[in-house]
Amino acid sequence: MSCAAPTGRSSRSYDISFGTSRLLKNALQCLPLPLAEGRGEGGLLDSSLKAGRLPIMTNAARAICTLLVAVSLLAAAPAAGQVLEREVVIVTPDAGDERVTQTHDAVAFWNETLSDLDLGVRLRETDLVVASENRALENYARLISQRGGRLPRGAAGPQPPRELIDLGADVVVLLSRQPLMPFAWPLPGSTNYFVAIRAVEPRRPGDDKVLRNVIAHELGHTLGLTHNRATATLMCGPCSSAAAEDNPLEWLPLTADDRARLRALHGAQ
Ligand SMILES: [Zn+2]
Repeated sequence: MSCAAPTGRSSRSYDISFGTSRLLKNALQCLPLPLAEGRGEGGLLDSSLKAGRLPIMTNAARAICTLLVAVSLLAAAPAAGQVLEREVVIVTPDAGDERVTQTHDAVAFWNETLSDLDLGVRLRETDLVVASENRALENYARLISQRGGRLPRGAAGPQPPRELIDLGADVVVLLSRQPLMPFAWPLPGSTNYFVAIRAVEPRRPGDDKVLRNVIAHELGHTLGLTHNRATATLMCGPCSSAAAEDNPLEWLPLTADDRARLRALHGAQ
């Protein structure tokens, strides 16, 4: 079965004033993923912050968060024989940004994987928003990247901006201009996610492969996957994203536990 082709994709442009962002100098990393302690939806933040400075989620709290994520996704599961489409909107500062193509590739990877597993969910790109500068989403991304992993128990986190909600997507992927760590963050009270991917400058050989795997990793979170400790796998965390560059495969593999979790969450068609 072919990958689900993006249909109905359109392009919009608008300009919002925003300060100059710093260029990134380091290669991408997907370091410790502290589940935001106390966030019922299980906030997923791939942070460059030192793990030791972040609140460590207890096994019990992690289990509760995992259960709540599973329950919310199960509630959105389609009936037998139906395929649920989760709409993905990409927000980019430049239509020619290489990360747009990398996001297309990551979506295609997931749709092929979900098809191979006979699961009842797909990702569908519905819009490409070209915003040369985007203060509201960039500010929200910065807040999440700085504070998401340190929220006190029960905190809802920063309020999503209206500009994000109005996009009306199940998953909004911001190709950020900031030097922030990539993350997938569940929006309060819904199964929707806000994903932020940082820019990488200057580019190095191998960055394309790493970035595609990082984006696929974050989209994996939006499908309900959490981190594992299996090195050189897509959902490994904390792990260095250099594994993607060194791996001969185009995409880092899923583990048996990842596939079992996807089947449990999204069922068979
Ligand atoms: Zn992660």
